[in-house]
Amino acid sequence: MQIHNLSETPSILNTFMSELRDKNVQKDSMRFRRNIERIGEIIGYELSKSLDFKKHTIETPLGTSETVLHKNDIVLCSILRAGVPLHNGLLNYFDAAENAFISAYRQHKHNPESFDIVVEYLACPSLDGKTLILADPMLATGQSMVATFEALKPFGTPKAIHLVSVIGAQPGIDYITKAFDADVQLWIAAVDDHLNDKGYIIPGLGDAGDLAFGNKLQQ
Ligand code: URA
Repeated sequence: MQIHNLSETPSILNTFMSELRDKNVQKDSMRFRRNIERIGEIIGYELSKSLDFKKHTIETPLGTSETVLHKNDIVLCSILRAGVPLHNGLLNYFDAAENAFISAYRQHKHNPESFDIVVEYLACPSLDGKTLILADPMLATGQSMVATFEALKPFGTPKAIHLVSVIGAQPGIDYITKAFDADVQLWIAAVDDHLNDKGYIIPGLGDAGDLAFGNKLQQ
């Protein structure tokens, strides 16, 4: 897997990341959602540089202008619910993308420290020959990303796969590196060291779904 860790080059992304992590600023859920969306836009821009391009001629009022435009048929797939603002950010740039949504949640069976990933809702177009962008803001254990990809397999074979995350933990990145082919690309805004015993990224930012959309009753 090819990893693009955008935090390696200091940029305006650091401002959005520090607001997401800051326990006082992140309480403003509208700002939290918008910062995730802005990170989706930045990652979308960076990722676009690796797409395939074809020549295009534009008729201006005064002449013609030559450019290249990307020619990929993009499918954006996000994991509900925390993926929604990241999905919106990517969709802001990939106007013509088709969209897939999937629900994946942690089901704690016996104790809070062990869980299975349960995939339930799934709506997906054909993936055959398309460029699949799979977005999950928090790449913790990596199990949701892999479970989602497994659930998408019956919908066709994409020609390229990009994984998009805001924060990842090294163990999760190691896990998905083993699960995905070498030509899959991961675009990520920060990589943290480890997970706590409940599977949260440390230092991370907390529960992205709760911060974006409010607390839930389920654990
Ligand atoms: N999901 C989150 O929202 N936060 C984490 O730290 C890990 C998974």
